[in-house]
Amino acid sequence: MQRLRFAHHRIKVLPRASSPSDSLATPATRSPVVVQMSIQAAPRTQAIQLLEIDTEYLRETLLTLLSIPSPSGYTDQVVHWVGKELMRLGIRFELTRRGAIRAALSGAQRAPARAIVSHLDTLGAMVKNLKDNGRLEIVPIGYWSSRFAEGGRVTVFTDKMGARRGTVLPLKASGHTFNDEIDTQPVSWDNVEVRTDDFCASAGELAENGFNIGDYIAFDPSPEICNGFINSRHLDNKAGVASVLAACKAIVESDAHIPVDCHVLFTISEEVGIGASAILHGDVAEMVAVDNATPAPGQNSRERGVTISMRDESGPFDYHLTHKLLDLCEQFDIPHQRDLFKYYRCDAASALEAGNDMRVGLVAFGADASHGYERTHFAALTSLAELLTVYVQSEPTFQRDRSTLGPLSGFPHQRTEVELDTRTQPVQRAQKRSLDERISSPPPAPGAPSDDDDDQS
Ligand SMILES: [Zn+2]
Repeated sequence: MQRLRFAHHRIKVLPRASSPSDSLATPATRSPVVVQMSIQAAPRTQAIQLLEIDTEYLRETLLTLLSIPSPSGYTDQVVHWVGKELMRLGIRFELTRRGAIRAALSGAQRAPARAIVSHLDTLGAMVKNLKDNGRLEIVPIGYWSSRFAEGGRVTVFTDKMGARRGTVLPLKASGHTFNDEIDTQPVSWDNVEVRTDDFCASAGELAENGFNIGDYIAFDPSPEICNGFINSRHLDNKAGVASVLAACKAIVESDAHIPVDCHVLFTISEEVGIGASAILHGDVAEMVAVDNATPAPGQNSRERGVTISMRDESGPFDYHLTHKLLDLCEQFDIPHQRDLFKYYRCDAASALEAGNDMRVGLVAFGADASHGYERTHFAALTSLAELLTVYVQSEPTFQRDRSTLGPLSGFPHQRTEVELDTRTQPVQRAQKRSLDERISSPPPAPGAPSDDDDDQS
């Protein structure tokens, strides 16, 4: 037993036997990796296979997803495409009224089910007003800076005149007219407008061309693949969705054993904070969100490997589920790192806030300059998909989570706990000794044993 000194508590490292993932103890090698997992509360062992990801499929799927505009609220087309792709893969699914997708990879048992969630919607904008100068005033959909909208080529979805094209420009866009003022105008959505590719010099002409208040605006993603990197808008979360679909393809094409039902969820309003609030059902005991990580100064996220988030602004992710994901990465030699996200929420937060009592975790691909000019590397997406394939094959984090309520018996322990000493607290002991010394005892000789020494053993 290892004992560490921490604050005023004694720490002991517990034997790691309370989670099935803890039994992943066999060293792994790559291609192919097969690990025998002993299963808690299950009668047999099953081999988990690290499944090979079809990287060409991942790439083509990502490019197709990027080509389908899907700002939050204008997601029907991408829902249709993902639905057809699931049908092609032979994965059954159903839709909520608004179009969130609940697909299912059927397992040997129905509960405690798990879920993997990613979101189909992206950032975008909406027409706020038709301006007298013939340009469109716009507001953002989702939370992002107009700094990254400036210069963007856009599609405006009108009700009666189809998809119109245009460019987002700062109000002072001509250097020959405004000179230095171009560099001093503020960065805000009030300081940009859309120049449409129609002859419009007034609000009336905008209306004649079909533009209207409330029209949705999608930004061209402009993807470019270079040296394994993909530069594009909306990698958040089209790259996550592509990784999930690539993992699903690998699973259905393999003979992998799926111990419990895995619900593969695609939400449609994550960027506006709604996310997975209304797509789950009671059998789902644990859910892994797939989204972007944030490589940036001070962050530990990378554009390679899986980034496992320990917490975001909504709070820490589930201890046991998160450590299980870390264990799977280590056991199957999947490159990974941990990180914490400061100004970040994902589908997990909305699910918990909606009242779902379940374990949630977040696995991510590093998207540099997230919600701006994003970039990631296919190595990160492949690692992420690989992790999902082994996660789907793993036993439930806890079989007891099948029930929403249960007894204390069998409730898990976290790996390190304090050793309780209810007689006196260390601070009180130190104060008492100090008082005793002043009353009756000479100070101990240097190096002499003290009565606190047992704390350091
Ligand atoms: Zn996202």
